[in-house]
Amino acid sequence: MEIDGFRGLLITADDAEYDTARAVWNGAIDRRPRLIARCSETADVAAAVRFAREHDLEIAVRGGSHNVGGTAVCDDGIVIDLSALRAVWVDPIGRTARVQGGALWSDVDHETQAHGLATTGGIVSHTGVAGLTLGGGLGWLMRKHGLAVDNLLAAEVVTAEGSIVRASTDEHPDLFWALRGGGGNFGVVTSFHFALHPLGPDVLAGPVFWAAEDTAEVMRFYRDFIAEAPDELGSLVRLGTVPALPGIPADLHWRPAIAVSCCYAGAVEDGERAVRSLRRLGTPLVDLLAPTPYVAHQRAIDDTVPHGWHYYWKSTNLAGLSDDAIAVIADHAYAAGSPRSMVVMFHMRGAVARVPHDATAYAGRDVAHNIVIEGVWLPDEAGEHAAAESAWARRFLEALEPVRAGGVYVNFLDADDDPSRIREAYGDHLWRIAEVKAKYDPDNAFHHNKNIPPA
Ligand SMILES: Cc1cc2nc3c(=O)[nH]c(=O)nc-3n(C[C@H](O)[C@H](O)[C@H](O)COP(=O)(O)OP(=O)(O)OC[C@H]3O[C@@H](n4cnc5c(N)ncnc54)[C@H](O)[C@@H]3O)c2cc1C
Repeated sequence: MEIDGFRGLLITADDAEYDTARAVWNGAIDRRPRLIARCSETADVAAAVRFAREHDLEIAVRGGSHNVGGTAVCDDGIVIDLSALRAVWVDPIGRTARVQGGALWSDVDHETQAHGLATTGGIVSHTGVAGLTLGGGLGWLMRKHGLAVDNLLAAEVVTAEGSIVRASTDEHPDLFWALRGGGGNFGVVTSFHFALHPLGPDVLAGPVFWAAEDTAEVMRFYRDFIAEAPDELGSLVRLGTVPALPGIPADLHWRPAIAVSCCYAGAVEDGERAVRSLRRLGTPLVDLLAPTPYVAHQRAIDDTVPHGWHYYWKSTNLAGLSDDAIAVIADHAYAAGSPRSMVVMFHMRGAVARVPHDATAYAGRDVAHNIVIEGVWLPDEAGEHAAAESAWARRFLEALEPVRAGGVYVNFLDADDDPSRIREAYGDHLWRIAEVKAKYDPDNAFHHNKNIPPA
């Protein structure tokens, strides 16, 4: 098979690398595209889009392949695969970086930290820049520097017609608005231009673990702790078991536990002061908060969510941590069957909340927390755990219903989430996003995603 004007690699079921090329992060996804077009330049992306449109092929776009619902791969159609486009160019004087559309956050952190700079990215370094940014982009630095989309200065986009445009506040401003939260609905982004900020190389970062029995006490303390926390302090709560990572005493591995994990985006001494009261709470199982190279912190939990394990997520926004919410979380968090399943709760606010609601398509500016309930099991445990972990995640979400805020982060939605949840993710931005969709992709060619149909 050939694509006119395409100089990358075309992979079909006849090729030895087909199975590796169609695999995505979530090992539970098993789809067989007709063609994988691994692009080596922007022109390839344009050629692949035109080819797909001419042949009326279902299109999936692959960045880092981390979408839990597996939207980076489709059955029968074409995967426009950007995984070979991972370059990052830093302008240390202007403090900006240009990042190709298939880069991972590890690529960005590596290049930017070489200059003592950073931008808000995901908390697992093998996550893709593209999907994460286009949905909003939560990370350790967001309370100080805003979401990934708040640091986006411009993007190069291949539209549904196969033409190449630049989107920024000056060029195609409607598209630029929609790209910042509206996901992969409008085209294929071949490069992102980000603002950078001085950081590190060392930051005060890491988790403190307490026994699961202490959950309610830790969460009540955490509620007050974050109310006073400076913007520099990014934090999340992780409930589940202590992961079996090097650096954690072996006798604690897999023990049910709650962790508060932090990253202080400022001087280490200031960070020490900011977390002092947290470390004094009760009797921690282990306290791993320490001055750490930022790049090492960004990689610290990579091995707790590797490629190929099976994952099933449910998620919602939380308005705050009421006693009732804490009770529901403490009741359900440890009821999973697999020791790999967990709950992660991001603390938002700070700079995220200061950006005006209408400035970008991202719609969750006013929420306090994003909670993700993650059912996780090994591929050979599918029989034992798949149904049970999924049911646990659904039950947990149902139990949160009375205490949750409306809304959900689009990037945490799974394949079986009802389309009404996509509408829930965008709230009153939905219509404006749909109008931009109608302008740039009126035929909904890019629909294998968290889809917003054209207005
Ligand atoms: C382990 C893990 C940790 C995570 N941590 C965070 C976190 O800290 N913060 C956070 O905000 N989210 C986080 N997420 C969620 C993450 O934002 C989504 O999974 C996101 O879809 C990942 O982007 P990707 O490029 O890797 O995914 P992919 O599966 O490759 O892409 C997902 C979708 O994005 C679109 N897309 C991808 N590339 C492009 C492109 N170049 N142009 C246009 N559209 C494109 C397509 O619609 C595609 O279907 C995490 C996910 C995982 C699995």
